[in-house]
Parts: sequence; structure tokens; C-alpha cells
Amino acid sequence: MSDWSVDKSSELYGIEYWGAEYFRINPQGNVEVSPQGLKGPKIDMMSLVEDLVERGIRIPILLRFPDIVKSRIELLAGCFQRAIKEYNYQGEYRGVYPIKVNQQRHLVEEIIDHGREYKLGLEAGSKPELLISLAMMDTPDALIICNGFKDPEYIEMALISQKLGRNTIIVVDRMAELEMIVNSAKKLDIRPKIGLRAKLYTPGAGRWAETSGARSKFGLTPSEIVHSIDYLKSQEMLDSLELLHFHIGSQIPSIQSIKLAIKEAARTLTEIYGLGGHIKYMDVGGGLGVDYDGSGRSDSSTNYSEQEYANDVVSSLLSICDEKKVPHPHIVSESGRSLVAHTSVLIFDVLGMNEVAKKEYHLTEVEKQSRLVQDLWDIYQNVNKKNINEYYNDWVEKKRDTQNLYSYGVLSLEQRAKADDLSWAIACRMAEVALEAEDAEDILKELKRELSDTYFCNFSVFQSIPDSWALDQLFPIIPLHRHQEEPVRRATLADLTCDSDGHVSQFIDTTTGEAGDSLPVHPLKEGQTYYMGAFLAGAYQEILGDLHNLFGDTDTVHISVNPEGGGYHVDHVVEGDSVTEVLAYVEYSRSELLERVRKTTESSILKGRLSRSEARLLLKHYEQGLAGYTYLFESK
Ligand SMILES: *Cc1c(COP(=O)(O)O)cnc(C)c1O
Repeated sequence: MSDWSVDKSSELYGIEYWGAEYFRINPQGNVEVSPQGLKGPKIDMMSLVEDLVERGIRIPILLRFPDIVKSRIELLAGCFQRAIKEYNYQGEYRGVYPIKVNQQRHLVEEIIDHGREYKLGLEAGSKPELLISLAMMDTPDALIICNGFKDPEYIEMALISQKLGRNTIIVVDRMAELEMIVNSAKKLDIRPKIGLRAKLYTPGAGRWAETSGARSKFGLTPSEIVHSIDYLKSQEMLDSLELLHFHIGSQIPSIQSIKLAIKEAARTLTEIYGLGGHIKYMDVGGGLGVDYDGSGRSDSSTNYSEQEYANDVVSSLLSICDEKKVPHPHIVSESGRSLVAHTSVLIFDVLGMNEVAKKEYHLTEVEKQSRLVQDLWDIYQNVNKKNINEYYNDWVEKKRDTQNLYSYGVLSLEQRAKADDLSWAIACRMAEVALEAEDAEDILKELKRELSDTYFCNFSVFQSIPDSWALDQLFPIIPLHRHQEEPVRRATLADLTCDSDGHVSQFIDTTTGEAGDSLPVHPLKEGQTYYMGAFLAGAYQEILGDLHNLFGDTDTVHISVNPEGGGYHVDHVVEGDSVTEVLAYVEYSRSELLERVRKTTESSILKGRLSRSEARLLLKHYEQGLAGYTYLFESK
């Protein structure tokens, strides 16, 4: 074995950066999770997965860790509490969880439970999300913030919810909603709690930036804000105005954008105060980023910590309020991604591979080969550090020739096969030479891409990590085991769908800090399942996931650390979609499908094409197929 070590693996896959205090590689070479943070109990994820498979849970599995939910809630609330104390800020911190980030019931329940101590509330962006909030939220005094498009039904429900003891604030996202709120409030004789969403001129940043300025979808312009205040005054309802809100987008990579936005919003708050609107809550929206790639400088990363975020929010608000002698408002933040991204991991297995690289090549009877094969043989034998640039260009040309000569009928299939095999062998040798040579980085990069294998994986990108496909977002992907061995191959990952977009070909590359186009992996071993995990998949992915090629929801398992003495506990198993369920989404009924297949088999039996036992076998498989998992599944 080489001098490879677990530490080298940690560095290579960047887990020491993106794993936060939850994920790392243990001395046995497996990925390990400590859901309660560094000091908490540790679970070997490889043993966990083997254990779950033994219990009949099917790969791919989505693992959820409620303890991480708790830890993230505590982390964020703790950061704000520390900042408030340090700056002697007079308001409180009141977080809300935006349901749209992940609406799964068990998760929302965990968020409410673990957030009770911090009065963590909910943010609803639509009527269905408000319906969830009203039923689930039972923390006294926790906020329910209503955003998104609203109709009178939405507004009336929000108003009446106050009578259930809920602290519901309706945010005016578009001017037309203000009058609707006032009218409904009068009709029901309930004092509304109103928020205004400000359109900021500070541009958001990063991949999910909202359009800012006059063109943004939601929010009120300065003149609309002035108009709203006049209108509320005229209705004698200015005291109902309790909150000022803004949201500049999700996953803001840079703290500078966040500070600028807070300052602009804080100025608006002080101006509203001057006009008689005594705002109780400053709602700074979402945007708190997650470090997906550990680089600290890409759109998938952040250049700040949670504590720096809290410090900047608190100190920027404080300085502007103090300057204008305005009382400090309570601070609301709507962080979703930061609360839940770390809480789930998708586990999948590799079904097989397409190997391109031939390490060595032996050519015999050189003089009997075609000119082209002889030229390639020459490159193979003589490439070195000094001539690599020249030989690389020659090789590229010869590869093109191979294709052309074959098409023109000059090269035989046999000679072409030799040329191909030699080309791969050259690529391998050149990559080794390029490592040592000066000025060969570009060549090396190109060769690495050429030489990467394709690993076929048992999952659907579209269902489980859709942002990887739609937005080229990086998710950390890493083998769950074998980290004592050097991952000597490089691969891109192809999923189960037939779509050419159904693959992952952008990975964390800690050697360059830029995204790499292949992932270091271990060679597959006969008879041993190779497991990998896509991490930080808890935010947005589940609900955006679609049924491309009819691959449905995966099995989901909630794993908690055992409070007494080590080990873990399976809280819930949420079974993934069966084929029947997925087909029902597109309006096929099980009974009709079966009936049709039965009829066809009957007529084939009559025509003598199908025997009775074949018919029975076909129907048995058909029925089992309908009842089964949409992914590939070998019962063990
Ligand atoms: C989506 C959204 C959020 C959540 O943003 P994160 O970046 O995930 O924290 C918060 N507030 C509003 C209004 C949103 O639309």
C-alpha cells in the first residue's frame, strides 16, 4: 500500500472545510458524523448504512439528522445572542424558519421543537405554507411571517390566526395588498400586524441574487413606502405597522453585500420612524450562506462565518439607529439554507463503471503496423518532460487522424483498435510526465478530464440534487469508506436517468480551489458495494426534485444520537415512492395497467405465442415492478 493516509483524504476531499463540526473521516477510513457537534457522540456512517440496508431500507437513502437541526438552531441563535450582548444592543433576536426551504413534516416538527427555547417562528411564502404554519406552530409568542402573493382568503386566515394566540405579521410585498389587508381587518374587526417589504437598491450577489432595485419582483419602492404610511395614517392604523422586511437573495457569498443591504434598510427604518411609524421588528430576510465547497471565495462558498454575519447585522443596525436616535428594533432573520443544509445526506451506491484508461501497452511487430499506429507508438515510447508540449499536440492530431482515416476506409477496425488503445496509454503516460514538467498545467488538466472514468450511480440528479443540474451548484460528494486507500482513479458520476444532463461533473478540487471536472475515486472491487454520499443536501433540493424518467422520492431515515450511552436511534423511516405511486402522478392507474397487460397476454396465449407459465411469469414481474422502488434494488 502507498503512503496514503486518512489525513490526505480529508484534505483531498475538503471535508475538513465543508464538514463543519459534523462530518469528518475517522481513523478506520470511513466518513463519520457527529450530529451534536464536535463534542457529541460519533456515528460511523459506513456501519450505519450497512445496518440500514440489513434492516431492509433501500439505497438510495436520504439520511436526516435531527440533532444537526438542533445544533444549527442553537448555533444561529447563539451567534445573535453573543452579538447582542457584545454590542449592548437593546432589541432581541427572533428567528423564523422559511418553510419553502424544506417543508417535510418531520423536519418542520423538529425545527419547532428544538426552536421553542429560542421562540423560533415560521415564515410562509404562500397560502399552503400558511396552512402548515397555522396548524404546526404552537410556540407562544413565536412569529409567523406571511410573505408572497396574497388574496383576501390568505389575509383573513392570517388575521384570524391572531385569535388562536398566534403572532402573525402580514408583509406587504406589493402595494395592492395594503388596501386588501386594511379592508379585511375592518371587516373582521381585528387589528392587523403589518410589515412592509422594502425594495433595496443594494444589489444582491451570487447565484441566487434577487433582482434588486426597481425591477425586483417583490417589495415597495421608497415612494410606495411613503404612500403606505400616509394611507395607514389616514385609516388610523399606523400603529399596526410593526415590521420592515427585505430579502436580497439566497446564499450571499460576500459579507460586504449583506452589510450594504442592512445599512440601506436601517436607514429606511429610521426614516419611517421620523414619519411616525414605530417599527418593532427589523426583518433581514434570508441569504446567510453555507460553505458548500470550503473555498471561501466561490458562489458555492461564503467569505464569512455565522458569527460574523450576526455581528455585522447587529452592529450595522445599532450604529444607524443610534445615529438617528431611534430605539433598537428586535431583529428577525429568515435563514433557511443555513439552518437545514447540513441536516441531510444522500447515500447512493455505484452500479458499475466505464473505464477508459489503459495503463500500459505492448506493441509487437511494429513494422507491420499502419503508419499511424507506428507514429503513436513513437509518441508513447519517447514522450518526456522536455518534449511534452510538442508531443501533446502531435497526439491530439493523431487522434483526429485516427477518426478520419477510419471513416475514409483507410484504417481497418483492428488497426483502429490498436490506435485507440495506444492513445489511452499515451494519455496515462503523458499525465505522469506532465506532473513533473514545468508549464504543463493546461495539458495536465485536459488529460485528467480525458482520463476520468464514468461511475454509474444509483440515484437521480433531478430528484435528489436538482440544483447540481439546474444551477451547477457544487455539493460535496465523497466515498463513505476506503479512505485509508489512495483514490487512484478519477471519475465523473452518471445517474440512472437517460438524460445526458443526468450526471455530476463538477466537484470540489482543493488543489486548485476552483471546481474540478472529475472526482478522485477508488477502483471498484468485485463483490463489495461502493457507497458515496452527497452532503449538505438539506436545503431546497427535496421539493425542487422532479420525477425525470419517473425516479421518485428515495427512502428517508431520521437518525438521532442515543441519549444514553452511544449508538443511534432510528426515529422515522419514510418510505420512498413506489412505481405505482409515481405512475399515479402522471395519471396511470395500477389496475388499468394490469388489466391491459392481462388482456394482451390472454390474446397472445390464444394465438399460441405465449405459454401459460410465461404469462404467469410476466404478470408476476409486472406486479412486483409496480409495487417496487423506482431505483435499482437488490434484496440482500
Ligand atoms: C427564500 C427566502 C428566504 C430563505 O433564504 P435562505 O437564503 O435560504 O436563508 C427567506 N426569506 C424570503 C422572503 C425568501 O423568499
